[in-house]
Amino acid sequence: MECVCQVHGSCGRSEMSSTPILEETLIKRSQQKKRTSPLNYKERVFVLTKSKLTYYEHRAEKRLKKGSVELQRIKCVEIVKNGSSVIPCQNKYPFQVVHDSTTLYIFAPSNESRSIWVQNIKEEIKNNAQIAAKFHPQFWQEGGWLCCGQVDKLAPGCEGYNLFGYVSRKPLPPVPGDESSSSMARRPPPPTPQEEAGPVEEVVIALYDFEGLEPHDLTLKTGEEYVILEKCDVNWYKARNKHGEEGYIPSNYVTEKESDTLEQFIWFCKNVNRNKAEEQLRKEGKEGGFMVRVSSNTGTYTVSLYTRSAGDGAATVRHYQIKETQGSPRQFYLAEKYLFSSIPELIEYHKLNAAGLVSRLRHAVGDQTRAAPTTAGFSYDKWEINPSELTFMKELGCGQFGVVRLGKWRAQHKVAIKTVREGAMSEDDFIEEAKIMMKLSHRNLVQLYGVCTQQGPIYLVTEFMELGCLLNFLRQRRGALGAQDLLGICHDVSQGMQHLEQNGFIHRDLAARNCLVNSSLVVKVSDFGMTRYVTDDQYWSSSGAKFPVKWSPPEVFNFCKYSSKSDVWSYGVLMWEVFTEGKMPFEHNQNHEVVMMVTQGHRLYRPKKAAPHIYSIMQMCWIERADERPTFTEITQLITDELEDDGPDI
Ligand code: ADP
Repeated sequence: MECVCQVHGSCGRSEMSSTPILEETLIKRSQQKKRTSPLNYKERVFVLTKSKLTYYEHRAEKRLKKGSVELQRIKCVEIVKNGSSVIPCQNKYPFQVVHDSTTLYIFAPSNESRSIWVQNIKEEIKNNAQIAAKFHPQFWQEGGWLCCGQVDKLAPGCEGYNLFGYVSRKPLPPVPGDESSSSMARRPPPPTPQEEAGPVEEVVIALYDFEGLEPHDLTLKTGEEYVILEKCDVNWYKARNKHGEEGYIPSNYVTEKESDTLEQFIWFCKNVNRNKAEEQLRKEGKEGGFMVRVSSNTGTYTVSLYTRSAGDGAATVRHYQIKETQGSPRQFYLAEKYLFSSIPELIEYHKLNAAGLVSRLRHAVGDQTRAAPTTAGFSYDKWEINPSELTFMKELGCGQFGVVRLGKWRAQHKVAIKTVREGAMSEDDFIEEAKIMMKLSHRNLVQLYGVCTQQGPIYLVTEFMELGCLLNFLRQRRGALGAQDLLGICHDVSQGMQHLEQNGFIHRDLAARNCLVNSSLVVKVSDFGMTRYVTDDQYWSSSGAKFPVKWSPPEVFNFCKYSSKSDVWSYGVLMWEVFTEGKMPFEHNQNHEVVMMVTQGHRLYRPKKAAPHIYSIMQMCWIERADERPTFTEITQLITDELEDDGPDI
């Protein structure tokens, strides 16, 4: 299975991305705990770079990374008005970083320090796709928002958010005796309003070909430049090509044109780990075959190089870390004597000169799993598909709603078509929801392309997944998959689920049977949210014979209380299915017995293929109290750490 390095996912944005912009010891409030105990306030060294906000525990001689937020995920950063509430730590200047569905509270030692952090982070996130329109100016505390009293942690913000304001909230009254709050000497200047800088055109480069399917679409050619005219939503932009033609393009087919973005080079394989790199280079089998990837150990770039000319003539793959000089300007090198101001220059040089490497870089090997991604629907604002444009082919299976067939749209795009049996679905409700589901677009979610609703029976048109459902995939390959492959499957699923979690979307029926596998062995989550539209009450009533009790946490089988945290429980069971290679959970027990057992604290056993630390991730998913279970963001991080490279680079 393919590893996607989530932690270093943004490393490709810029090779300068690891230079610290700010670094300071601040205090972080624990996100898990509810109580305002001083124990939940920990000193951490915070480091802001162009791509991440990372915090470390500072031990005598070394730093221990405790967590990291990718800047592109941040929706809001602002000071926190603490009103009359007592802050139980020595730093009295709180600010908040809202990302995904989490708020990170950080406490600075002075007003000045806080302003610097808030302003600098604001500066770095100003081009983020998702910036909050509203936010909560005060703390989430003891199960409620102090500002507006709402008790749902995900409740929408109660005050307008101004990313461009200079510490947009009114300054707090100074803390008596604290000199620093009045000291403005090092306060950063307010950002220049955008208008003064004049309109800046955003230029992007196409990463893949895209053939415009509707007259209002614009065709993309890999490597060419386009000007963005409008960001219509997260999935579709309006753009102009060099001939002045305008139209809609899928946002995931382009990357910002920064002079230093590596994604435009075929040798840059951001999502390939060490094992995969070796596998792909050996498969290609070309002398001097190479790729550049991001090392999950260190976050640095690594050149992986295939050769037969080392020693005994046996094929080997060597991994060379690209090193950076300290100080500015930063320079890059593989072999000590040859310094370059950018990675592409370094690669160009070593294409011609081995200069310390076992071979020169003769043949760029691209990521073979980097096929063009799916688009959120076939075009912008198009969700109704004309059934006369569909061709029906072989039957793929039969599901809750009816038969699933392989088909083609407009005679060339392979799709899966689900025919909805009459009476099997609450159709009107579903049709409304389908528009939202189509916007959920992620590498690890089976894409809904559109629906045919104008005549009966209705059809759902989705991405076609060549290798079918994950449960059968696991069963058919029993004994053939290693622990790393199994973990790779779990990693794919947790990333898909993380995307649902971040969008506040609950799956409600996560299980191996509801995941599918494509021909590149990428696993994707399917059927999210669909149980709500099943009319058969045996399926959704918790006492019904088809209710997925064995995948459900107590709050679901007792009170039908669904949340992203109930999905986390199901995810733990899915991990168990993966590591048993497709066993039935609690195989010797009936549903009503499982309810009793789980209520009494009984849990699934550790599968033989799951090492104790992998099993401990499953156990975290099965914590009785939903709010104590990890989030999918945290699970993805844990699995990414487990999937680390298993050998040092040269
Ligand atoms: P339901 O969830 O409605 O019960 P499924 O989505 O599980 O139905 O579909 C039934 C079967 O059809 C699956 O087990 C799988 O084998 C096949 N199938 C469904 N969707 C696809 C797809 N997108 N690509 C390939 N096969 C599919």
